[in-house]
Amino acid sequence: MIHTVVEPATGQPMAEIERSSLSDVDEAVARAGRAQRDWCAAPPAERARVLLAIAAGVEAESETLARLEARNVGMPIGDARGAVAGVAATFRYYAAAPERLLGSTIPVAGGIDMTFHEPIGVVGLITPWNFPLSIASWKIAPALAGGNGVVLKPAELTPLTALELRRLCVAAGLPDGLFGVVVGSGSELGAHLVEHPSVGKIAFTGSTAVGREIGRRAADTIKRVTLELGGKSPSVIFDDADLEAAVDGLAGGVFGNAGQDCCARSRVFVQRPVLGEFLARLEVLTRGMRVGDPLDETTQMGPLISERHRRQVAGHVEGAPVAFRGDAPEGPGFWFPPTVLCPIDDAHPAAREEIFGPVVSVLVFDDEAEVIRRVNDSPYGLSGSIWTRDVGRALRLSRAIESGTLAVNSYTSVRINTPFGGFKQSGLGRELGPDAVQAYTELKNVFVATT
Ligand code: NAD
Repeated sequence: MIHTVVEPATGQPMAEIERSSLSDVDEAVARAGRAQRDWCAAPPAERARVLLAIAAGVEAESETLARLEARNVGMPIGDARGAVAGVAATFRYYAAAPERLLGSTIPVAGGIDMTFHEPIGVVGLITPWNFPLSIASWKIAPALAGGNGVVLKPAELTPLTALELRRLCVAAGLPDGLFGVVVGSGSELGAHLVEHPSVGKIAFTGSTAVGREIGRRAADTIKRVTLELGGKSPSVIFDDADLEAAVDGLAGGVFGNAGQDCCARSRVFVQRPVLGEFLARLEVLTRGMRVGDPLDETTQMGPLISERHRRQVAGHVEGAPVAFRGDAPEGPGFWFPPTVLCPIDDAHPAAREEIFGPVVSVLVFDDEAEVIRRVNDSPYGLSGSIWTRDVGRALRLSRAIESGTLAVNSYTSVRINTPFGGFKQSGLGRELGPDAVQAYTELKNVFVATT
């Protein structure tokens, strides 16, 4: 069956590809399993060499990949170039891992005790549409480095760069079949992967609702799971903050990728004395956002991913208190303007639920204890920012906020070399950073009697 991929900036088809069947999933899992036996037995330096070759292959085709990602996601081309550079960097970073997968020796009586990080076998990877290639690489690279085979099911809306990456991996020397891609729906192919008896782990990024369902289904085969889920991340801006930097950064911090970012700082808490100045600056930024063709070098924000998603985002804003908004193109494409909600109550659904669009709620606070309580009054805990010149206060909030990743005087959330993941219903487990490969291995303990 044919699957049509639509370009969000035009609403028109941009590619037609073959949709996978359930037996294609079975075949991909079986091939990955066969290839994995040789892959995990290969010398660690050989696995490292192939991962480095993949990084080089991605770099050699970086402009083509970036343009494809920009068109398929509606992501500004500058951001897409950054994303592709990050994919190469991820493979390079994890290329060091096969030769550094160190175990321990543990002092025991009567012999020698040692540990090994063994591959899980075949790992199923299920990814969303907002940063398709980046998020796939955060899973593929450490999984391969750990000696596993992988089967990736990208989001139906954005499968194109995953298929290109598979081609590049084979060209770089990755054994054929070790990395499979299946294209199709989550409820069919995704669920089949989750239930598959030959898949040892599922690494999933997507909504909390689907993550919950995957956790439930994975329990039947006691599969390992890593879940990277939704968020409603705060930014807390104190009256001593560098207000210009705190506001200017929101161009990426909340409107980046049209707000379709699990770490979007969509709840901004501003201390009362600077609320007026903050809003005045944010209005200039919001009205000045350049929303348009993702392939235009000057574009800061593209369209939303689909008409269905545009309607959902609009539904969240309907009846909510809009303080001001920017412009967006009219006509074909799934456009939505940058939108600021204020004054708004913490209990308002738009201030509590993940909207996943360019919509930010501005909330006012008076003191530190109050803002910590209000920030933590959320089922989510993925990311967040603290803006202040008071180092002690920054550290107190960094410890008190229930969130997996925090940035002080910055909107950075994700770095390849630091751990990323959520507290509470934002996820389970961590990705990236030096320990990510361990999430794709089983710890084995061996005792050798010497007496
Ligand atoms: P989604 O949960 O609808 O889909 C994600 C993936 O799961 C897709 O590939 C989909 O086909 C598949 N899927 C759907 N139903 C399934 C099922 N029953 N079994 C198995 N697989 C299934 O999410 P989305 O709309 O693609 O992405 C947006 C969501 O992803 C947001 O909630 C966002 O916060 C979250 N997200 C989280 C992170 C993170 O790292 N925490 C990063 C990016 C996006």
